[in-house]
Amino acid sequence: MLKAKKSLSQNFLIDNNISKKILKYTDIQGKEVLEIGPGYGFLTDKILQKKPKKLILIEKDFNLFVYLKNKYKENKNIIIICADILKFDLNKFNNLIVISNLPYNISTKVILYLFNFSQNITEMILMIQKEVAQKFNYKIKNMNKYKFLTKIVSNYLICFDVSSNVFFPKPKVRSSIVKFKFKKNIYNIEKAKLFSDKIFRNVRKKITNNIKINNNSPLLAKRVNQLNIDELLNIYNFF
Ligand code: SAH
Repeated sequence: MLKAKKSLSQNFLIDNNISKKILKYTDIQGKEVLEIGPGYGFLTDKILQKKPKKLILIEKDFNLFVYLKNKYKENKNIIIICADILKFDLNKFNNLIVISNLPYNISTKVILYLFNFSQNITEMILMIQKEVAQKFNYKIKNMNKYKFLTKIVSNYLICFDVSSNVFFPKPKVRSSIVKFKFKKNIYNIEKAKLFSDKIFRNVRKKITNNIKINNNSPLLAKRVNQLNIDELLNIYNFF
């Protein structure tokens, strides 16, 4: 019988077909993979079938960590770490592929944290709440800082939606599988964050009231949430 802790947002994916479908969106054979919050290892088992070179598991729950240590004790290319992903340094990795059915109570926080390691990660395939998936989707209007930062660091794709029936226990909301493919060109994430903090400070005000930009573009007279992503990038170029 599966035990689930609410405080750690434990909703285990119990449908093998969904696990397999998730892995169709990435090619991990011979690559280094990081799975965040493997739980009982349901998705992990499917990852292993695809023969990654190395698999790193980061699980915060000590009981599950012990369970996983035992489950995979014969497996030489798995590294299991008991840690909080939000405190885990990924700087020493290269060309990592991140796969996770994220803990939903911290999904946005984890994604923004992982943006800091966009030079260490190639791509991320993540299960998150459907509304959170929309929040990062810069292809849809109504700009916010999440859409802007996502566009700066990655190409973003919503792969497919998942019903809450595939989990135990069932989460209250629908879920989506999303993919962030990180850009490898050099950009200044600190500058992008500074810009987004300023320009999204008060979305009800005109842009000129939130940020000082020496340019007479008519876009600056609009409110930031009225822009589409290309218009927003246009303003960022003046910053
Ligand atoms: N991947 C599993 C479990 C998903 S539930 C499956 O699909 O069945 C989310 C998992 O993330 C749980 O195992 C939970 O213990 C773990 N978790 C929660 N907060 C975490 C954190 N801050 N760092 C690492 N793992 C975390």
